[in-house]
Amino acid sequence: MGEARGQGPELLDLTAQEIASRVRTGEVTAAETVDLALARIAELEPRVGALLRPGQLDDAARRSAEAIDARRERGESLGPLAGVPVVVKDNLSIEGQPLTCASRILDGYVAPYDATAIARLRAADAVIVGQSNMDEFAMGSSCENSAVQQTRNPWDPERVAGGSSGGSAAAVAAGEVPLALGSDTGGSVRQPAALCGVVGFKPSYGRISRYGLVAFASSLDQIGPIARSVPEAALLYESLAGSDPRDATCSERPVEGLGESAADDGGRAAPPTLEGLRIGRLREIDSSGLEDEVAAQWQSTLRQLSACGAELVDVSVPSLPAAVAVYYVIANSEASANLARYDGVRYGRRVAGGGSLRELNRRSRSEGFGPEVKRRIMLGTFALSSGYYDAYYGRAVGVARAMSEQFESAFSQVDLVVTPTSPSVAFRLGERVEDPLAMYLSDVFTTPANLCGLPALSVPCGLGGSSGLPLALQLLGPRWADREVLRAGAAFESASGWNRRVAPGAAAREESSSAS
Ligand code: GLN
Repeated sequence: MGEARGQGPELLDLTAQEIASRVRTGEVTAAETVDLALARIAELEPRVGALLRPGQLDDAARRSAEAIDARRERGESLGPLAGVPVVVKDNLSIEGQPLTCASRILDGYVAPYDATAIARLRAADAVIVGQSNMDEFAMGSSCENSAVQQTRNPWDPERVAGGSSGGSAAAVAAGEVPLALGSDTGGSVRQPAALCGVVGFKPSYGRISRYGLVAFASSLDQIGPIARSVPEAALLYESLAGSDPRDATCSERPVEGLGESAADDGGRAAPPTLEGLRIGRLREIDSSGLEDEVAAQWQSTLRQLSACGAELVDVSVPSLPAAVAVYYVIANSEASANLARYDGVRYGRRVAGGGSLRELNRRSRSEGFGPEVKRRIMLGTFALSSGYYDAYYGRAVGVARAMSEQFESAFSQVDLVVTPTSPSVAFRLGERVEDPLAMYLSDVFTTPANLCGLPALSVPCGLGGSSGLPLALQLLGPRWADREVLRAGAAFESASGWNRRVAPGAAAREESSSAS
């Protein structure tokens, strides 16, 4: 680092906007920024376990950073994420790098091309510094279905980071990176963000290209940003969103982000306001299904929303209680079809020894997939089998359609709908592993947005009175109202003062670095 200007690690605690603007003006280099992130990752990873194969991307990251600096020195202007270190979930293809979905079945597989989201990160001059842990094939709510490792919640190492994008959320919460990407099929960006005290956004279905994202349930999957504040999540979203000829489900509608001023300076401009917004409170939310401290915070969050000028209106989505059941029929059905390609021949792991092709398929899949993935392939195959198709899959699709109509009619009365993101705070590692149904119920508030294609944002809203762990609210909007959802989230965030709280696990790091 010939150009070191004595940047301390606190550079990484600035917003993504502030880092990028310093790299653009040359006040700091991308190389320095990336070195600081790599050093912090090396320091914190033994405690957090957010990244798979830490160190694997170090050389590539340093080379990208140097190339960015060289372009600036030549007088070229740099992108909106100039030099910002980013972690991406290990279900996004990075050319020439391993891609495992935290599954043994993809051992040894190397992605032959960049996902569109990855290509757009590079085009925005972000630097990818790590690939994050996840539940195997994005199936889970705690990262405990990873075949590789456990991720620990930076707020309490005995608790889960949430899932399935738990590695991405933990990396941001611990302060390893300002930004991360996850994928959200039924809540996997929002729920881990909520449990780790950071912001997670699932855009409208069709906003961000899925090209190069390993498919779980194609009609529900969306890539989404995780960050420590709404304007930072919005900046990342804006850099990725927009049409892509390689994904026919990706919309050509123009992308509206948070709006230039708020996104550019990390939210220091006059914040958007909740004044005059009509926010719907769902009659179907049953407080008895919420953990006590979530229920208590929920009431005070509603009061806070109205204190900020929002008008709360009761609305109804009668099919809401069916969301988890409907989601698990549709998601597992699509997964059983999408995962048929892992046959021991085309991708990754192949068992040794002879036998027929059928035997090779059977043994490779038996050894390669973990128990949760197998459970879902079996359930999905059953739901799609002839004689049962109409009873399960057909019916589930019918209820999802009815739910979309019910949301549409709710949105004729209100601008946005609010719910808690998760019915509980981060649970203890191991607590729900033996009880898949308890794990599935974590998704009660997040799955409707996927079933109906709606944009949904999770924003931290406080700490549990007894546990001291993060709590979050979720804002949902009509399809394509991504901007309105982000603006309301930014307004709530700045009013609540919850903006960019650091996890205590990361505070230990701050003491040690300021002592040195
Ligand atoms: N927890 C949900 C599941 O296990 C959601 C997963 C996701 O969004 N990828 O299916």
